[in-house]
Amino acid sequence: MKSDNIFNKIANALLGDYERVFYVDAQTDEFREFSADGVNDPLQTQQKENDFFSSMANYAQQSVYEQDRQVFIQSVQKDNMLSKIKSGCMQSISYRIIKDGKPVCHSLCLIRYMEDENCFILGIKNTEKTEAKDTQAPENNCGNALIPQQRKQKLEALFQAFSVVAEGSYVYLCDMKYDLSIWSKTAVDTFGLPSQYMYGAGDIWEDHIHPEDRETYSSGINDIFMGISTGHDMQYRARKTTGEYDVCTCKGVVLRDENGDPEYFGGAIRNHGLHGHVDSLTGLRNQYGFFEDLQANLANNRNMCICLVGISKFSEINEVYGYHFGNTVLQKFGRYLFEHVGNHGSAYRLDGTKFVVLSTTHSVSDMKQRYENLRQYFREKFRIDGKQLVIELNAGIINVDSFDIDSQTVYACLNFAYSESKILHHGDAVEFTGGQTNENRYRIEQLHTIRASITQDYNGFYIAYQPVVDAATKKLIGAEALLRWKNEKYGVVSPDDFIPVLERDPLFCVLGEWILKTSLIDAKKIREKNPDFVVHVNLSYSQLEKPDFVDMVIHTLQEVDYPAQNLCLEVTERCRLLNIELLKNIIVNLRGKGVKIALDDFGTGFSSVSLVKELNFDIIKIDRSFVENIDKEEIVRNLIEHFTNLASLFGTSVCVEGVETEEMMKIICNYPVQSLQGYYFAKPLPFDEFIDKAYMI
Ligand code: C2E
Ligand code: CA
Ligand code: CA
Repeated sequence: MKSDNIFNKIANALLGDYERVFYVDAQTDEFREFSADGVNDPLQTQQKENDFFSSMANYAQQSVYEQDRQVFIQSVQKDNMLSKIKSGCMQSISYRIIKDGKPVCHSLCLIRYMEDENCFILGIKNTEKTEAKDTQAPENNCGNALIPQQRKQKLEALFQAFSVVAEGSYVYLCDMKYDLSIWSKTAVDTFGLPSQYMYGAGDIWEDHIHPEDRETYSSGINDIFMGISTGHDMQYRARKTTGEYDVCTCKGVVLRDENGDPEYFGGAIRNHGLHGHVDSLTGLRNQYGFFEDLQANLANNRNMCICLVGISKFSEINEVYGYHFGNTVLQKFGRYLFEHVGNHGSAYRLDGTKFVVLSTTHSVSDMKQRYENLRQYFREKFRIDGKQLVIELNAGIINVDSFDIDSQTVYACLNFAYSESKILHHGDAVEFTGGQTNENRYRIEQLHTIRASITQDYNGFYIAYQPVVDAATKKLIGAEALLRWKNEKYGVVSPDDFIPVLERDPLFCVLGEWILKTSLIDAKKIREKNPDFVVHVNLSYSQLEKPDFVDMVIHTLQEVDYPAQNLCLEVTERCRLLNIELLKNIIVNLRGKGVKIALDDFGTGFSSVSLVKELNFDIIKIDRSFVENIDKEEIVRNLIEHFTNLASLFGTSVCVEGVETEEMMKIICNYPVQSLQGYYFAKPLPFDEFIDKAYMI
């Protein structure tokens, strides 16, 4: 049982909004009534009565407008009322009473239901005057008995300040010494809270939180009131007056007084139900919600640790168990993530099988540890319909402590770390870092600037050309177009530093088109003197994924008026990540038009013999790391012999990259190799220098 003292406090606060407040014990039907009607001290009017439900029936007979009486009496019958209250759907009953001979609208509202104690609080208010009253502070006769007037004014002033910065969210502010809070009126209306001013608002709000999310909420609030934590950042579902739940994110901070004791607790609650960024399958916020929060945190200079988690080989689950079962897996996964983020951040579902956890309190090592726990659970303990499922995950993590960057750059870096986890680290969490030489922050800022250059008319991008020579005559037969980016702050940045990160970015496709077009325009000028000249252009596998890729190439060739047979497109072994049929289709189509296709970086990473057999390449480029020690190691020479013979067998020509010395060149020319490339002939050169030197080779 709540102590009388606490209950008096609650009743006092409520009388700011209600004319009469009832505290009812449904086991004995005893009740106490508080009313503020024209009396200075409402506690004076407190009465102890015997039977709440028959008093209500009397009230109906005496005061309720005749036309509403029948409905009112039915509504306040004990069984009916209790069952509605317990199911949480009884929020208010609207009716009219006769006052000075006229009907006046009133409502009887359930303010609070104390679940395990069979007690509840009801209030009666005149709804014709609530509008004006709600926006005011509680009147003197009810608020100042507990909180000194000056403190109340301070609370109100602070609340105004909080409200200004929390656009689009509900705001709450609590004076922790008196446990009096002010909440936004929109929150009061949406969730059916008793009043803008509430004593013990933490408990009142807890009643509105979904039972499954309550534990996390209450432990978070406890920690705050105990002075253990300095704020919170949590996600939960809150019940509206309609009985439905909305996903909300609640962020709060504790302000301390001059002695360091907690004094105020304030923050903002964002109702995602209103913003529509909710994924219908899992109930989590979706990618729009994620980007919205990410942008808001960047705009407010808030440090973040973000983890992108994805489920491996999800298509196999769909194939084996069916689509419906697959959806259940996603739902449970989302639920688990939501619960385990607890009061440290938010969970989101992006497209397909990728989820995100965003925390403004976790460090990278916390996040890694949490990911390991999650991974272990889904490997060992995850069951659906009695079936034990082994689910493998991948994760990329990024720590954001620099804010002059956009959300797309953060996502590109995060996604890059994620694919490293998936492709190279068997699902171990990979953190995005600045590499060996740079600070993480420096690299993200650099990527942001590079990415922004794409939209600023490709400012800073240019192409360097490295000669490709005929192995027999050593004459120039073509050049490889290699992308460069340069600016005052960062100097010349190698494509290896930014292409792998940005290639999955939707913006990269327009850059790819710019590279192709610029290379063709330059090559057209070289062809005026050297008509057989072939320009080699590198492709990222993400470009190939675009359904209009072949059309784009054909269209660009036409636009520049450049012959297809003088263009060679280089794809790396990473293109194996694509569907092989799709790849075959693209290659057959382009070769049909005369465009040449080369397999780049042969001999790195995976063995590609099956790929060579499956797809008809015009050229295989043997990677420089492969030939590095050709003059020192016999095994390397044997392998080169083996590969070049194999290529001849398939009818494919061979280009060796990374020829740095005359000696290397001589050894390589002992084998059936058709073309060569490397520093021995020339380094990649800007177009003007290239065109000067091109005819000397
Ligand atoms: P890649 O296609 O294998 O390009 C060859 C790389 O080897 C170039 O590095 C080139 O400068 C370097 N190289 C050439 N000869 C020698 C040599 O004799 N010794 C040594 N040590 N290195 C040599 P770069 O220009 O830094 O490009 C790195 C990678 O970036 C390229 O590797 C390619 O994968 C990617 N890349 C460059 N430009 C583009 C582009 O326009 N589009 C795409 N998608 N990727 C590009
Ligand atoms: Ca290449
Ligand atoms: Ca290469």
